[in-house]
Amino acid sequence: MTTGMNSPPPSTCDLCGTRLTGGAGALAAVPDSSALHPRRRALDGLRLVRGCSPAHLDRLRAHYRVRPFVLEELWSGQIGRAQDSHPYELTPAQIANLTGLLPTQIARALHWRRHQDDEAAPAPLAGGSPPGS
Ligand SMILES: [Zn+2]
Repeated sequence: MTTGMNSPPPSTCDLCGTRLTGGAGALAAVPDSSALHPRRRALDGLRLVRGCSPAHLDRLRAHYRVRPFVLEELWSGQIGRAQDSHPYELTPAQIANLTGLLPTQIARALHWRRHQDDEAAPAPLAGGSPPGS
């Protein structure tokens, strides 16, 4: 048996991990503000999920239906993608030009990102001062 050029690549169910071959399973596009398309900005915010059965596809849809769609998360990802594609630091005007975002959207996205970074930082030590100070 050979794998021809026309065979879709093997994939797995996004819920249970069952290996799917030969185009098995079903696909659905679900809203997800953390999903960025590698090339087409119009498809940002849509995630393609694959289920091994209609029941698993329904559960995947339900998961993303209740996940908050945060515009600032989407914009932050679009800004990150623009920055990653350039070896130098971009100016706000360049970011706006590359992403199509308005200055207020860029500001809200950067504020959101800083807030996410703060939440990811380790909590300060009890007492509020570093040891030895
Ligand atoms: Zn499954």
